[in-house]
Formats: sequence, C-alpha cells, structure tokens
Amino acid sequence: MNATNNPFRALPSVDSLINSHTGQALAARYGRDAALDAVRAVLEQSREHLRENGGVSLFAEALLDAVAARLHHSFAPTLRPVINATGIIIHTNLGRAPLSDEAQKAVLEAASQYSTLEYQLETGKRGSRLVHAEAALCEITGAEAGLVVNNNAAALVVLLSALAKGREVIISRGQLIEIGGGFRIPEVMEQSGALLREVGTTNRTRATDYERAMTPDTALLLRAHASNFKQIGFTESTPLAEMAQVAHAHNLLLVDDLGSGALLDTAQFGLDHEPTVQESLAAGADLVCFSGDKLLGGPQAGILVGKKALVDMLKHHPLARALRADKLCLAALTATLNHYRKGEALEKVPVWRMIARPVGEIEALASEWAQAIGDAANVMMGDSAVGGGSLPGSTLPTALLTLDVRDADAFTAQLRASDPPVIARVAEGKVLFDPRTVLPGQAARLLEIIVSCLQS
Ligand SMILES: *Cc1c(COP(=O)(O)O)cnc(C)c1O
Repeated sequence: MNATNNPFRALPSVDSLINSHTGQALAARYGRDAALDAVRAVLEQSREHLRENGGVSLFAEALLDAVAARLHHSFAPTLRPVINATGIIIHTNLGRAPLSDEAQKAVLEAASQYSTLEYQLETGKRGSRLVHAEAALCEITGAEAGLVVNNNAAALVVLLSALAKGREVIISRGQLIEIGGGFRIPEVMEQSGALLREVGTTNRTRATDYERAMTPDTALLLRAHASNFKQIGFTESTPLAEMAQVAHAHNLLLVDDLGSGALLDTAQFGLDHEPTVQESLAAGADLVCFSGDKLLGGPQAGILVGKKALVDMLKHHPLARALRADKLCLAALTATLNHYRKGEALEKVPVWRMIARPVGEIEALASEWAQAIGDAANVMMGDSAVGGGSLPGSTLPTALLTLDVRDADAFTAQLRASDPPVIARVAEGKVLFDPRTVLPGQAARLLEIIVSCLQS
C-alpha cells in the first residue's frame, strides 16, 4: 500500500500543518500551544472519520479551516451581548439592568486605573471602600447609614447572621418566597443560623399574629416583599408601619427585604405601585435591603440602608468582608445613584428610560421597522413587562413588530444564532419584537438580522 491509496498516510502531519502559513498565523493569534492542541484534535477527528466511514483524507487546506473554526469557537466568550427584543425590561437571564453611559464610563475608569478604593487623599492613609456609595444612598433614601455587598441575597445573609444568629425571626407564611435561581427565604435563614418562626396563614397575617409569636429569643420581624407573585382574593398582610409599631413596642427590630428596591414611583407610568425604599424607612423599618440591578437600574449589588448603629454592626461582621462589593460595582453604583440625586434618572437610567418610554414613540418605531422589512411584517399592540421579579401581573402597553413566518420556532433559533444573538417572543405562530427593550444603538443591526433571516 502506498500513500495515495492509504488515506491515513495521506493525512498531513502535525508539523506540516502548524508550520504552514495558515498554521503559523493561527499560532500567532491564539498561542502556539492552543494552536497545536487544535491541530491534533482535528487530525484525530479526521482519523476517526476515516476509520468509521472510509473515503479519502481531507486536504491540508480543509483541515486548517477546521483548526481555525475550532480555535475561534474555543476562544469566543460564552458571556456575549444580545439584543433583548422580549419587552421584559429587567430580564434576569439576560443580565438584568443595562448601565447608563455615565455608569459604564465609571466602570471603565475604575477598571483601567488605580483608584482611591481604600485610600484617603487628605491624610495619605488607608480608607474604607464602604464610603463610596454611602453618602448618596443616605441622601436619596433619607437613611442614617448604608452598606453595599455582592447582591441582595448576600445582604440578607449578612443581616440575619449579624442580628439573628441562633435567635428567632418572625415572618408571615405568605412571604416564605422562592425567587428565581432557587433562592428561598427559609433556606437563606437556615444558612444564617436564624430560626424561622412562621406566623399567620398563606393568605392572611395580622399584627396580633406577630405579637403572639414573640418570645425572649425573638430577634426581629422580617418582611419579604412577595415580588414575583401576586395574591388576589381574600388576603390581608400587615402594613409595614403597623409591623414597626408592634416590633418597637417589644424592643425588636423590623427588617424589610424589598427585593426590587424602587427609588421612584412606578405608578406614574400606569403600573402597580412598587414599594419604595424611602417609604419603608418612613414606615419605621430599621433596616431595608434591596438589589442594585433591579429597579434601581445599576450593577449587581445588595444594598442595606437604615439605622446607623445597626449598619455599623453589619459593616464589622466577617461576612460583610467576604461578600463585599468590588470596585467596578461601587463605581457603577455611585454613578447610577448620581442620576437620582440630579433628578435625571428617568432620562439617564436605561431601566427607567424604558419604563417611561411613551407607547406612541414605540409604535412609530415598530411601524418604521415593519415598513423597512416589508410584506412579512406587521405592527400589533401588546404588553411589555418590568420583570426581575417586580410588579407581577402589571404591564406597560406597547407596540410589537410581528413577523409571519412558516416556522416561528425555527426562526427564533436562527435569530439566536445571529451575531449578536436576538432574543424575541413567539405567540400564536408569530414572532414578536418589542422595541421598548431594544437599545438605541442596536436597532439598525436588529433590522439587518431580521432581513437576513427572512431571506435564508
Ligand atoms: C430578587 C430578590 C432577592 C435576591 O436579590 P439578588 O440581588 O438577586 O441576590 C431577595 N429578595 C427579594 C424579595 C427579591 O425580589
């Protein structure tokens, strides 16, 4: 048998591939070790293919194409930007809140240079990272003090560990909630060493229920905002101000886990009213915790605000150190909070800009898109959702671009395979695009992608 009729011998060697012009270019781009690994893997694949199917071996050029594709794929990030055309503004699976221009700039500055993260310029001495967002949080919410940690789940863990370890926490049965991603309030409490004391029934909890459950071991009353579901019908929950009265009359603390932590009133846009941080503090909550990347519209963070003595205790707890916020988070959060301080959050914070976007503007955009696309496209009225576990069942009227396609699921798969991937909705066999959540810089590319998917 000679080389021409033995396909295995006809396969190029590792050396010849890596030393070829293309091989050298790939080694320069991805590093020699990675390129060699890819060459070996592609050759092994070819040998296997020949063993199983026979035939003739591929030419070097085709093998190098496969090597290039393999390297491209293995170095492509798995965390990729996408176009969110779902109309769900705080989409947890798509990264929750996009940052404002100012917050993006602050992140870039903090990431690319040294900073005063823990340094006092006046004295030249060590400072604390905890100061960066605290003053702004206090100014906006009226709180005495504040602390930022990794996320709201971490805020709850720190708070319960510091204030209720080995003691009882009273919570209404209707608030023993699970949030997306398997985060369950009872399990977090257990991890913190706090003992759960459930009161009331699923649909009704009154002030007297809390009072009767109190023992000398009780540390605090906890309210968890049932953010991702809605109870209707025969329900009653104790107003926060009443819970505060009951707690304080017995020298206990009241803690409010708000989840979303709105700083502005959602009702001004026809949505249900999401309780605000300011309201919780005014109602008498000693500590309030909420997320940075839900309705606040900033980076992932857990924010705790409230009484100074309590926040100081939390700051010194070892878990606050373990779960601390990083400099990029603090930079983005401070820049986001400044939008609220300046009264420009509705214009500058993307989450609020999307919530506040007039339906007429969205309809004009949808019509413009439909016209550009042609026959397959139409405009239909529909709903956008706030998402992120906020305001369940409360929606914003919107206009949708709709596409009539033969196979809507196949079409959305094609959209997801585009660059950047496009995430759309499907209803009644139509593909729906909500302009509300498409960022201003993405519209032109979105249209190109839609047109190209329709053509193929
Ligand atoms: C979202 C939410 C949390 C968890 O917040 P993360 O920032 O995602 O950790 C906790 N409690 C409530 C009520 C929530 O809505």
